[in-house]
Amino acid sequence: MTKQMKWESIDLLKDLISFRSITPDDKGCQNYLIEKLRELEFEIKILKYGDVPNFFALKGTQGPLFVFAGHTDVVPAGNKSEWDSDPFEPQIRDNKLFGRGASDMKGSIAAMLASVGTFLTLYPESSIRIGLLITGDEEGKAENGTKKVVDWLIDSNIFPTWCLVGEPTSSLIFGDTIKNGRRGSITGKVVLKGKQGHVAYPDNASNPIHSSIPIINRLLREKWDNGDSNFPKTSIQIVNISSDAGADNIIPGDISFQFNLRFSPETSAEKIKNKVKKELEGSKFKFEIFWTHSADPFYSEPGTLAETIEKTLIEKLKISPKFSMGGGTSDGRFLKKLECEVIEFGPTNQSIHKTNENISLSELSNLEKIYLHTLIGLHNHAAKI
Ligand SMILES: [Zn+2]
Repeated sequence: MTKQMKWESIDLLKDLISFRSITPDDKGCQNYLIEKLRELEFEIKILKYGDVPNFFALKGTQGPLFVFAGHTDVVPAGNKSEWDSDPFEPQIRDNKLFGRGASDMKGSIAAMLASVGTFLTLYPESSIRIGLLITGDEEGKAENGTKKVVDWLIDSNIFPTWCLVGEPTSSLIFGDTIKNGRRGSITGKVVLKGKQGHVAYPDNASNPIHSSIPIINRLLREKWDNGDSNFPKTSIQIVNISSDAGADNIIPGDISFQFNLRFSPETSAEKIKNKVKKELEGSKFKFEIFWTHSADPFYSEPGTLAETIEKTLIEKLKISPKFSMGGGTSDGRFLKKLECEVIEFGPTNQSIHKTNENISLSELSNLEKIYLHTLIGLHNHAAKI
């Protein structure tokens, strides 16, 4: 029989923040979780790929599988002098817990662990199996993290029915947003080649900066798609332009500019590439394009998991969440390959990746409450099947 566990998410979170687990250097953070999960008699599979630690923990032998997914890695602290306390020494001020990863996403991991401990104490004969997929490579390249663990799950014939990713999805107040999809992401870098020369003799040169302006303008005006009922339309942002021959009397020989598109399922990486190529071919300049296609869009039709979280938020906190596909990419795109319902729900995201990252104590305890009642809701659902 499972031992009785009553962990406070605030204590767990303080411990988790104190590990300086900046991608991909875990610094023992996952071992801490593994020890806790072993106390709950989870079976642990350690899955290290390259220098990235990951693990999958599983408990139970019967019923549909529910998986909590999360990452223990954090982004660097940035300028430490701008923090009011050490980013890796958790501190409570004004009813908020400060530290790197407090809301992205060690707070969610603490709430997951605390809720699982309480759930298994309340329901030792659970009608669902519970898994935890924890990666150390979400904030980095994401090559050796969830993506590979998902392949391992498929090879091991482990298929969840529901996956809940603990990313900080709430926007203005805790519980206002659930994510059930994300846009795709593609970055292009164009090098446009002109002809270097003296600024006083422009006829003997060909200025690639001048030529890039109408091209960039056309890309900005391009209608990539109209989005659909779930997704906003695809948008482009220029993120870098650089050209410099090192003196004010030289027309540079080339210019490079970089842009990123967040795209809906109404278009595709291939269509975007073709459109950009066509634009460039319309200019008389030689060019090169380098693409980084980091994510395709994904969409998960709201089902039992989404409904359970929504119902719990309404019942417990009187908050009616909206469903959204906005924001950056997440590991949800890899989990969708498991063909299960993938929902993301977590704390507010206003301080993530910033100095003085924090989570309010009431939010943390509400997060644990929502996770716990989601587990209970799924257990009750499975018991009826
Ligand atoms: Zn995150």
